[in-house]
Amino acid sequence: MENEITYPYIQSFLFEIMKSSDPLLAEMEKYAAKRYIPIIQPESSRLLETLSMLIKPRRILEVGTAIGYSSIILARTLGSSGAVDTIEIDEDIAKIAREYIKRAGLENVIRLIIGDAAEVLQCLGGMYDLIFLDAAKGKYPEFFSFCFGLLNRGGLLITDNILYKGMVAKQGFIEHKHRTITVRLKEFINELLSNKELLTSIIPIGDGVAVSYKY
Ligand code: SAH
Ligand code: MG
Repeated sequence: MENEITYPYIQSFLFEIMKSSDPLLAEMEKYAAKRYIPIIQPESSRLLETLSMLIKPRRILEVGTAIGYSSIILARTLGSSGAVDTIEIDEDIAKIAREYIKRAGLENVIRLIIGDAAEVLQCLGGMYDLIFLDAAKGKYPEFFSFCFGLLNRGGLLITDNILYKGMVAKQGFIEHKHRTITVRLKEFINELLSNKELLTSIIPIGDGVAVSYKY
């Protein structure tokens, strides 16, 4: 299904001009496109990178590694003592991620944890300054309380795919197969917006990105 978040001409314009000029990331973009692996869109990844540069996190947590594309982008924003923990449920894709992370020379910065985030999030030690939530949209409400608990004050929770091809905002008919996810995402947005310890902004680029600051 087409993404209906913004005008198609704006979307393709941004997509084209924001593509990575970094050879490894460009290779990963091609790899993901060929296999329909939903890595973050270039325009959203640029936002992620900018925000991370701005807040200078020491510890980053990512939920949903896939091939490690956003993990590498985030890791490169870190100073010398920073680290990224990233969780991936699919062992096969995690193997690919591990190779790319090694090629990026970041195997000592990125810790790849294989498992279901619903469980892993409950066993992590320490707090994070930036959490990037990008896995299993239907489970965002379930992941939220753990992520909130793991986020330092002054930190950011950044959530991808928050508008789900525009369906979250759409009035009227939603195909059956997309209904549960759409309902859960709306529930999740309400949770973000009603939380008094968070300040949330929703940005309609890529597949929709929510940026939540923890007071
Ligand atoms: N953040 C990546 C893309 C992640 S795609 C990037 O932008 O480069 C979402 C990933 O989340 C998929 O690889 C999927 O296998 C993983 N995933 C889905 N459910 C999960 C769960 N419950 N726990 C951990 N990972 C999960
Ligand atoms: Mg995503």
